[in-house]
Order: sequence, then structure tokens, then C-alpha cells
Amino acid sequence: MSYLTLKDINKIYPNGFHAVHNFNLDIEKGEFIVFVGSSGCGKSTTLRMIAGLETISSGDFYIDGKYANTMGPRERGIAMVFQSYALYPQMNVYDNIAFGLTLQGVDEDVIDQKVRATAAILGLTDYLDRMPRALSGGQRQRVAIGRAIIRKVGVFLMDEPLSNLDAKQRVTMRSEIAQIHRQTGATTIYVTHDQTEAMTLADRIVVMKEGRIQQVGTPHDLYFDPANVFVAGFIGEPPMNFVKGTVKDGKISFGSNTLDLSKKLGSKLSEYEGKLIIFAYRPEAIVLGEQSDSYVINGEVELTEMLGDNTNVYVNSQEDKTILKVDPHDTPEMDAPITFSVPYKSVYLFDGETEDVINC
Ligand code: ADP
Repeated sequence: MSYLTLKDINKIYPNGFHAVHNFNLDIEKGEFIVFVGSSGCGKSTTLRMIAGLETISSGDFYIDGKYANTMGPRERGIAMVFQSYALYPQMNVYDNIAFGLTLQGVDEDVIDQKVRATAAILGLTDYLDRMPRALSGGQRQRVAIGRAIIRKVGVFLMDEPLSNLDAKQRVTMRSEIAQIHRQTGATTIYVTHDQTEAMTLADRIVVMKEGRIQQVGTPHDLYFDPANVFVAGFIGEPPMNFVKGTVKDGKISFGSNTLDLSKKLGSKLSEYEGKLIIFAYRPEAIVLGEQSDSYVINGEVELTEMLGDNTNVYVNSQEDKTILKVDPHDTPEMDAPITFSVPYKSVYLFDGETEDVINC
């Protein structure tokens, strides 16, 4: 059995709202798992059920093979880091980090050694005498993480731990969290709405929407093999382009473009004749101009955004608007006609009704 097992977990709040539907997941010891999805999709609810802060309405939860639904939060061997740092303002950094152990009556020498070792991992050695109000947001969050990791627990839960930090601090703290995980090897479940955090931190990502898991996979799996339109659109920046159309005589038309889908779908195509289909490609997967073994698309440049390392090009091809990511040296003129190619191997097709990927 895996270290953590969630089997058909549901959460129905007392007001009748069904927040989490049949959540199934096995987590191995030492894994870094990220729950990602838009606000309200059930990430925190799931995390809080794991922590024992919310009851599980139905389903079974096991920690290290033991039935855990009815275990109290303290019995679970779990430490949680919240979005708000929840530090004690009247205590210095040392006492904040030591607090849990002091409560447990641990020997002072042992506490001292552990606080110093934890502070060293977190780069807080020079700040042990400081009060929380004299720390930056990033330093406060490190103290909060220190309070969690000083206890030898099996699992760390982190709920949007970086959301109170500014953009620059977030990037620094993100790499520090990855570093801490490498050093401690602790099983971690991390909740965020930010796909970049998910992609950079996770061993495996759980993408959620409206209380349901959409896909579980490595960052590589989610980027290259999205299971459906939601995952495809959620992972990647700018998002994947989706062109909707109906298959007619093996072709899909949009704007002035007609694409022969049999080149991608082959004999599978007959199944989709007359049906809605979504043709999709990532902004970075295109090549400017006409290329072989590609779908060639024509449009007009509506807007360009020079970002330094690349340029986003907004293309209007009558009904459809798409975004391309090009080398800044190839930035096209505004309003000019543009031709680009999407290699067959970079095209995704989704069923227009179920929005599930069509494997081809
Ligand atoms: P996320 O963490 O993904 O933003 P949450 O797990 O906090 O989402 O919430 C999931 C859904 O459950 C939301 O629609 C939220 O409004 C609802 N919800 C959260 N807490 C309660 C509650 N105590 N009672 C009823 N509904 C709740």
C-alpha cells in the first residue's frame, strides 16, 4: 500500500454543497504532490480532510496502511503551513520555531540543537533574535515552514504558502521550498492555483476542477499529454490555442483556413465526420512560414508583445484568435498578413462534446 491512500473521498458540507467528488490518489513516501486548479475547485477542502481539520463525508483515507478517517489531527503525524504565517508576534524567531517542541516538554538542549539545525536549513541563523514584525514576508514564511519541519512528521501540507509574497520573493521562496524538500525528503502536499508553482515544484500534479480530479501526472505528462481541454488550457503560458470546428469530408474549416485532419487522425477520422472537434496547438509549437509535415495557417497580426526572451503574437484569422510565441528577432509587423505552420506532431485534437483528448 502507498504511504497515503485516498479512496473515493467525497466532501459534502453541512449546507449540502458537494465540494469534492470521488477523489482517488495514492501518494508514495517522499513525493512532492501539488494540487492545482482555480479558486473554489476543492483543493483546500481535500487538504483539510487529509489534515483532519474537516471530516470526510465518504470514502477511505489511510496513512501508512492505517485507517485514518477517524484519527484526530494530532495523531496523523502531519504538519501544516498556511497562507497566513500564523506566527506568534510577541515571540522571536527562535521561540516561534521552538514552540511546538517546548509545548511537548522536550529537553532544552535538544530543542536548541534542533532549532539551530532548522534555522540553518532555512537561512535564518542570523535572525533567531528578531521579532516577526522585523522580518520580510519571505523570512516570515520561512519561520512558518521552520515551525513545521522541526517536528519530525511524516507529511507536510502547504496551503498556498507563497500567496502573500511579492512576485520576486515568490520565485526565491519557491526554489527554497524545493531545496528544503530535497534536504528533508518529507512527503509534501502543496496547494496552489499557480501553474508555474505546480510545474516547478511537483513530482506529480493533481489538476482539479469543480471538485473533480481532471488528471494526475508529472509536469511532463501534463504538458505533453493533457487528458482534456481543461488541463491543456491550464498548463502552459500563454495557454494552448483551441480552434473549434466541425469535421466535414475529413476537413475542419475556420476562418479562411481549411485543414485536412486525416493527416493527423488517419482512419480514425470517419468516427468524427459531422461532429464537433477541437484542433489545438501550443503557442510555442509553431514555426513561422510554410513548413512541410505541418498544418499551414494564415491570418493577420493583431498585436505583438515583446517580452525580451520572446514575443507573443496575437493573430486574427477571421473567427478565431490565436497566440503565437516567436523569437523576438522574428517579431512581425502589426496588421501584416502572417503565415505559420503547426507541425502534425504538435497538434492536439479534442472531442468537441466531451472535451477529452483524441489519442492519435
Ligand atoms: P480551493 O481551495 O480550491 O479554492 P475550497 O476547497 O476552499 O477551494 O472550496 C471548494 C468549494 O467548497 C468552494 O465552492 C467553497 O465555496 C466551498 N466551501 C468551502 N468551505 C465550505 C463550507 N464550510 N461550507 C460550504 N461550502 C464550503
